[in-house]
Amino acid sequence: MTVKYEKERREVINTGIDMAKTNLVVGTWGNISRRIDDNLIAITPSGMDYYSLEPEDIVVLNMDGELVDGNRKPSIEYNLHLEVYKNRSDVGAVVHTHSTFCTAFAIARKGIPGTAEDLVQIVGGDVKVSEYALPGGIELAHNAVKALGDRNAVILANHGALSAGRDLKEALKISLILEKTAEATIYAQILGGAVSLSQSDVDFMRDFYLNKYGQR
Ligand code: 13P
Ligand code: ZN
Repeated sequence: MTVKYEKERREVINTGIDMAKTNLVVGTWGNISRRIDDNLIAITPSGMDYYSLEPEDIVVLNMDGELVDGNRKPSIEYNLHLEVYKNRSDVGAVVHTHSTFCTAFAIARKGIPGTAEDLVQIVGGDVKVSEYALPGGIELAHNAVKALGDRNAVILANHGALSAGRDLKEALKISLILEKTAEATIYAQILGGAVSLSQSDVDFMRDFYLNKYGQR
């Protein structure tokens, strides 16, 4: 049996396994999506074990949230994902986690300051916290997009975190760097406080990351 959009669906599955293996989620919480094209996304099904997913379990939706392919119920957070794509043409993939240290910031309703160099390079500055809204609704999606702004990550109040990348590899990497920085920030606070980088240093490093870093 051939499965439509198999490559994109397999990439969502593999990222889900990596997300579960790296302890960014526990159980079936969290969710993942990627763009297929300008009008379609592939998103994880609601409440299914990340290690059990087959390509046909990944749900294909259009930008209006209508089912295009698949017979599973999509993640309850499909609006959260869709609103990010609608507002950010630079975003190709979204990873939503419930990781431990990001949850600490989420339940304290605090953002993560722009302190660590890798964080500001990949996120574009500090990470804001969105206003609270119940999970699975359009209000959460609107609040998240507002707090995300032009950054690549946001903390969701009393809930978790969301990372937006150019592709799934980058979105997962952002989630891992976010979690590492959340943990380090709490240790820094024990040590007397985390020191934020200046805006000009953030801008310099962001430009370096986007245009010069690595092998080109
Ligand atoms: P789903 O299993 O429906 O994706 O929900 C998990 C979640 O994280 C809700 O915010
Ligand atoms: Zn969630």
